[in-house]
Amino acid sequence: MHHRSTPSSLDGIDVWDGHEPLGARRLAWAPSGTDASPDAVVSDLQPVPPSPRYEGLSVIPGLIDTHVHLIGNAGGAASGFLTWPLVTPPTEQVLHGLAHASRALLGGVTTLRDLSADEVQFSLARAVEAGLVEAPRLFAHGMVSMTGGHGDMFVPPGVDPRLRKPTADGVDACRALVRAHARAGATGIKIATSGGLLSDGDKPSWRNHTVAEIDAIVDESHALGLLVAAHAHTTEGIRIALRAGVDSLEHATQLGAGLAVDVIAAGVPVAPTLLINDAIADGTVPVTPDQQAAARELVATRDAGFAAAAAAGVDFVLGTDANGFHVRFGEQMDELRRMGEVFGWSPERVLEAGTSRAAAAIGRAAPSAGGAGSGGAVLGRIAVGAAADFVVMHGRPWRDAGVLDTANIVAVVARGRVVAGTLPV
Ligand SMILES: [Zn+2]
Repeated sequence: MHHRSTPSSLDGIDVWDGHEPLGARRLAWAPSGTDASPDAVVSDLQPVPPSPRYEGLSVIPGLIDTHVHLIGNAGGAASGFLTWPLVTPPTEQVLHGLAHASRALLGGVTTLRDLSADEVQFSLARAVEAGLVEAPRLFAHGMVSMTGGHGDMFVPPGVDPRLRKPTADGVDACRALVRAHARAGATGIKIATSGGLLSDGDKPSWRNHTVAEIDAIVDESHALGLLVAAHAHTTEGIRIALRAGVDSLEHATQLGAGLAVDVIAAGVPVAPTLLINDAIADGTVPVTPDQQAAARELVATRDAGFAAAAAAGVDFVLGTDANGFHVRFGEQMDELRRMGEVFGWSPERVLEAGTSRAAAAIGRAAPSAGGAGSGGAVLGRIAVGAAADFVVMHGRPWRDAGVLDTANIVAVVARGRVVAGTLPV
């Protein structure tokens, strides 16, 4: 089965294009007709009189979540966050990942970036790209962690070493692991420049990798055309990541006005992962007392610092850290509304964070040659030639961010195909 899009249109509907409202437009989409990108793209966007048929409705670009973890138990059964991946065969894990991806589509999310991918996510991305299954476009970053680093501590000590993810210690090993991920199909690399919260036994304050190792990872990644996303909670971790020239900051929990200047100068987007850290700090998800205490300490000063950083102009983008356990797939609109509250943003800035700015953060503000799961067209925009990924909603979320709620979704179109709801006719 290979889906082929048929030309379709919404004639006279209100469009917000990723940057600004365009008024009523004839939004039409059709197969791009190029081998490089078989998916549908927007083919017409001319101004037309508003149609009474679309009264009260509007269209925004499909959302892009720049930070997720698809692999985890999607079945709802009680299971340990750390143990489920160890007792579930990879063949079964991929189906759970697909279930999570489907839920993201229902929540208006048409592109996902998985930030600790291995063969499971690479396989899923290729199946999505081949049109075998309906899911958001999938970008997948392979993790390069030191032994005892953030990425290594999700597997408890004592577990059969064959079940551990690969780690890299020393400059040569770091380069080799980047190359192995590239060979396997990664579209980027993830590093940690501080410890984490959910990884068991490490602390946010732990240094992860030496400067020489991080420089080698970034150099090797960029040489292979891979973006580097850096997990960093602490000010020290943020400084280390910026100095190394990474392409995005993940969490950046202790980012305040002081560091904002450096983040802006570096032109680096930041995924603030608000809901998950709130949930861990509040204990509304299953966490250990240690994890909750560490999160409380980090979150205590976070919002004031983030608000100052946002006012200074830091490029915050949608990145939830959704893993189906602490934050569910489909909660992306909730994260966006929370970002608006914490950052004191206009509704339009909230929307940009989940669309055009998120696309730029993953390197897709311009067309690309493609890559697993991604197609080639511009994402996060509604423009002629851009991907036909969008959400038809009740209301106008660029005027009222409160409208940004899955209850207001009328239909979701991904790659030109209706994947949720039905188009109004
Ligand atoms: Zn994460």
